[in-house]
Amino acid sequence: MPTRKGYAGKILRVNLSTGDITNIPTETYAERFIGGRGIAAKIHWDEVPKEAGPFDPENRLVIMTGPVAGVPGLAGSRWQVSGKSPVFNQFSYCNLGGSWGAQLKFAGFDGIVIHGKSDKLLYLMIDNGKVELKDASSLKGKGAIFTREKLKEELDESFRVVAIGPAGENMVSFSTLLADADSSGGNGLGSVMGSKNLKAIAVRGKGKVEVADKEKVRELRKKVRELKPPPGAWPTLLPEENLKKSICFGCINGCMRADYTAANGQSGKYICQSAVFYEIRAQRYYGEASEVSFKANKLCDDYGVDTRSIETMIMWLSRCHKTGVISEEETGLPLSKLGSLEFIETLLEKISFRDGFGDVLADGTIKATQRVGQNSEQYITDYMAKSGENPVYGARLYLTTGLLYAVEPRLPIQQLHEISSQALMWAAQETGLRDNYMTSKVFRAIAKKFWGDEICADFSTYEGKAMSAARVQDRQYAKETLIVCDFSWPIIHSPVTEDHVGDPSLESQVLEAVTGMDIGEQGLYKVGERVLNLQRAILAREGHVGREYDTIEEFNFTVGLRGDYGNPNCLVPGKDGEPFPRMWTEMSLKR
Ligand code: SF4
Repeated sequence: MPTRKGYAGKILRVNLSTGDITNIPTETYAERFIGGRGIAAKIHWDEVPKEAGPFDPENRLVIMTGPVAGVPGLAGSRWQVSGKSPVFNQFSYCNLGGSWGAQLKFAGFDGIVIHGKSDKLLYLMIDNGKVELKDASSLKGKGAIFTREKLKEELDESFRVVAIGPAGENMVSFSTLLADADSSGGNGLGSVMGSKNLKAIAVRGKGKVEVADKEKVRELRKKVRELKPPPGAWPTLLPEENLKKSICFGCINGCMRADYTAANGQSGKYICQSAVFYEIRAQRYYGEASEVSFKANKLCDDYGVDTRSIETMIMWLSRCHKTGVISEEETGLPLSKLGSLEFIETLLEKISFRDGFGDVLADGTIKATQRVGQNSEQYITDYMAKSGENPVYGARLYLTTGLLYAVEPRLPIQQLHEISSQALMWAAQETGLRDNYMTSKVFRAIAKKFWGDEICADFSTYEGKAMSAARVQDRQYAKETLIVCDFSWPIIHSPVTEDHVGDPSLESQVLEAVTGMDIGEQGLYKVGERVLNLQRAILAREGHVGREYDTIEEFNFTVGLRGDYGNPNCLVPGKDGEPFPRMWTEMSLKR
């Protein structure tokens, strides 16, 4: 069978119980599911029995790139990891950046399906088509950063490595996988890799990705570069001169992703929530801005612990300590030093090695509240989504996001961004915080073109929000099959178009130019809808059914809305674009 353009043509299958290494043709899935989450979900549906637990050998850890991975200039080299996760004992997913995914394509594979369980700790080496399982016993208990660097030193610097830390090995339910450029993926899938006794995957390749229409790809690359100029830097309290822009393989213009180099020479990725999750607490503890939040992030990366989950857990620990539910003596945690380097180091070590109270915490905040008892769940339920993550871009503020939250097994950040990114720009412009072109008129034009009607930009009413949620889902699921980066796609607005509205057809044009498929914009959304429905079928088969699951957390109905990330006054565009404050207080709830 000839290989379809844009694909390496094979998916690697590794059975860790038997050591068997085989291939599946990607073409089996490409037409209907494209790649990324699409193919990963289809393999999960076909192969993982509904009764298999997250740590059973029958669970699959599926790693999938998409057809755009390895193609320069289109920000499409992200890669998806999926499997049954311990967070909710059901299918979940994450996606990572950097260059590991592109390297896998260059090595001759579109993805890897890992099943079974090894009886000793191994790593997988993929060297330009040659695949071997190798002993990793000397890496037992070592950090993910340490493992990555050690393997590169032993094999060759040109390898790209994804690894787990001790949290993954010890099946901490919110453990991560960490790759080059500190790209990490969470929702407990590091623990699935750990349960299989697989410490790392090192990959390098010399191939390249053939595209169907080179001229069209060149044209699209030029177009997206013009439409999407590089954004500004991520706001930071750290010395800006120590930040250096860092770009994933094949990006368009980069984003605020950067590398930070600390005073002691330690360096690593600095971006988004992971960069600042400990910042305010550290600032309060030390009385000034410091590098402690950066070091906390690197500790999470090395132990292999998800920063969103740990941020929520720290909030719960802090409140439980203040109210006397837990003490330093009982837990062995320096709770009075919350915000210090000592606190975060002790916490992460205890959780990652399931040491003492760390074992109570290692299965996530929800289970920890049950083990601690004393009604301790009351100290976190207003701050936590059902997946244990901090629910940013909340259901009550942007309305559409409530529907997106309700039906996903985890925080659907890419879907939330499609609403919140423009809303935050609008709020910044409206309050005079930052001058930009996102006026109410532009926002309404975006709503019409991308979500179906101008009413979708009126957040004072629920009207039109189901329609916009469905459009967001179809587009974002399609995006997850390519997989193009969330910071670059979709191009919803642009400083260079006359009306500042972007172009929703670009993703389908990219797919056509890379693969030669004749799909069109609506055809691509159909694939997105198919993958969404497939994921819903998997979740239903695994017990995620009915209103018990398809809902938002109780606190949304009982606790006042107190501000959201980047929008402390909860200001949104209302009728005809007039500013509408969605702030609720406990007082208004009581009335
Ligand atoms: S936009 Fe940022 S995160 Fe996305 S591919 Fe480019 S550099 Fe990586």
